[in-house]
Amino acid sequence: MKRILITGGAGFLGSNLCDLLIAKGYYVICMDNLITGSPDNIAHLIGHKNFSFIQHDVTNYIYVEGKLDYILHFASPASPIDYMEFPIQTLKVGSLGTHKALGLAKIKKAVFLLASTSEVYGDPLIHPQKENYWGNVNPIGPRGVYDEAKRFAEALAFAYHRYHDVDIRIVRIFNTFGPHMRLNDGRVVPNFIYQTLTGKPITIFGDGTQTRSFCYVSDLIDGIYKLMLSKETEPVNIGNPAEMTILEFAKLIKKLTQSKSKIDFKPLPVDDPRIRQPDITKANKLLKWKPKVSLEDGLIKTIQWFKKNRKIK
Ligand code: UDP
Repeated sequence: MKRILITGGAGFLGSNLCDLLIAKGYYVICMDNLITGSPDNIAHLIGHKNFSFIQHDVTNYIYVEGKLDYILHFASPASPIDYMEFPIQTLKVGSLGTHKALGLAKIKKAVFLLASTSEVYGDPLIHPQKENYWGNVNPIGPRGVYDEAKRFAEALAFAYHRYHDVDIRIVRIFNTFGPHMRLNDGRVVPNFIYQTLTGKPITIFGDGTQTRSFCYVSDLIDGIYKLMLSKETEPVNIGNPAEMTILEFAKLIKKLTQSKSKIDFKPLPVDDPRIRQPDITKANKLLKWKPKVSLEDGLIKTIQWFKKNRKIK
């Protein structure tokens, strides 16, 4: 039986990966310090014979007994609100945490998969973003703690690949939504769903002309799994290219929740990227992957899940 370590395994993406990999017949070791992850996300797996949980901060030495075939490094605060609340931890987990996880991959001879991000492209000057674009990041802005940590993590993974022959994969994840997101993580999807379902004003930052491209979580996880099994060591974008403005997105959520919420315009956060859309040609060619769930279908499922699991009236 193949054994996998998932750091950040109690987070939004980590816990969705735990579910998929258990269903595929792997033994899953989930590691999380629970600063932004939640035990609720993995509660249903506790006691499963192919699952174990270790509460640990991966910026410290990682000890795992037995063989490991894969290490999926997903530990990090990932929403702008979270990484601004935990700026030092964000930098530490991307640097020291990635170093520890790579050291473990080296001794275990495990494949190492890094959860990287579209944030490595910063406020992009190229559109849509292809993997060969080097990005436009402000290192000292409030988002720099996340963007630079992930850029450093990519560089470190590549150094371990070149100098220690560690087999690596790098996924650059674009905006994703779905079950297991925290209602209060500050990202646009939970915010708008909560606001529309409770009749509160929808907070649009800036004038709402900035764009994002949203991917449903099952598609994203499927893409990551295909990348994990591939031989590609260079970064691969995974996301849904269906781009829209935040204002259009607010209107869509309002329609789907049949809400009467008003729109409230708030100041645009510093360095908020103006545009973002993945070019997924590489994933499509290499992994035969493309998203299958439409934005509307994904949002309907997510709204249902939030109503049921986050107890919104
Ligand atoms: N946003 C917004 N209202 C909110 C939360 C976010 O208008 O209540 C905007 C935010 O400024 C950004 C976009 O929605 O332009 C996506 O934000 P999110 O925090 O989800 O992630 P990002 O893509 O910026 O990392």
